[in-house]
Amino acid sequence: MHDYDLLVVGSANADLVIGVDRRPGAGETVLGSDLAVHPGGKGANQAVAAARLGARTALLARVGDDDYGRLLLDSQRTAGVDTAGVLVGGAPTGVALITVDPSGDNSIVVSQGANARLTPGDVRAAASLLAAARVVSLQLEIPLETVAEVVRAADAGFGGRPGPRVVLNPSPTAPLPADVLAVCDPLVVNEHEARFLLSDDPAGSSDDPEEWADALRSRGPRSVVVTLGGEGALVADRDRTVLVPSLAVKAVDTTGAGDAFTGALAWRLGVGDDLPTAVRFAVRVGAAAVTRPGAQASFPTAEEVAAL
Ligand code: ATP
Repeated sequence: MHDYDLLVVGSANADLVIGVDRRPGAGETVLGSDLAVHPGGKGANQAVAAARLGARTALLARVGDDDYGRLLLDSQRTAGVDTAGVLVGGAPTGVALITVDPSGDNSIVVSQGANARLTPGDVRAAASLLAAARVVSLQLEIPLETVAEVVRAADAGFGGRPGPRVVLNPSPTAPLPADVLAVCDPLVVNEHEARFLLSDDPAGSSDDPEEWADALRSRGPRSVVVTLGGEGALVADRDRTVLVPSLAVKAVDTTGAGDAFTGALAWRLGVGDDLPTAVRFAVRVGAAAVTRPGAQASFPTAEEVAAL
């Protein structure tokens, strides 16, 4: 009945990376390394993470009719993502201009490009894709009204059938409408995102992640997952909050760890795991992803996760 375990609706960016000895100040020019171009964007990353694990995955996104758009489509197809829902044209492909200094600190400028042109109308036109997915995963690198349209459609269902379960990672941070929050199952946040959403709540200045999870849960989502880097993740559902510890690994590069975690989590929910079980798997995927450099390049296969 469902063609996809997971539909990701979100961004696709070309990451343009230059290593520098020192990041330039205002009005300054510095020389850097050769340019490296990588497929990225949170939506594209999550879809690749899930498909590489074996998920039946589709992506609804928008890229430009240009070389970066073709690079992004290629990386999705190579990972096994169904790209029939990727719209082409309307603006140049989204780009992240990234400079990285020797300590690993980076400065990033994002041009949203085609991502900003993924509209609620595009979502309505892709209703059959939404109806065919068990889970839909969202982030906030596309317009909030587009995210809200996906959530509304998923919540309403299709012809009497329930719509897909909604997983939302509110990154980059933005205030979330109550009707969007109410449907998240789970809302997936890291420390920064948790504190942002709780900036008007005493729990937001606490150092106890369990307080963040409980306070976020009381805002209305059906469940909450707080990722804690090398500490693992907290799971708060209807009646309990549990810590799923991380695996002890040698972290080489944490870029994309959150996307690998969320893509894996959403997939496991799509194949019927309960939330704590899905998080236990996702923590292993996140740990595998930090042992290798890069974002999509670091995402593991199911065999690699099992071998960890
Ligand atoms: P990023 O922005 O770097 O992609 P994030 O801030 O969204 O990540 P994190 O909480 O840092 O999210 O990491 C997501 C998950 O990845 C963690 O819950 C954990 O499972 C795994 N992870 C991250 N860092 C480590 C680490 N040093 N060792 C083991 N696992 C890690």
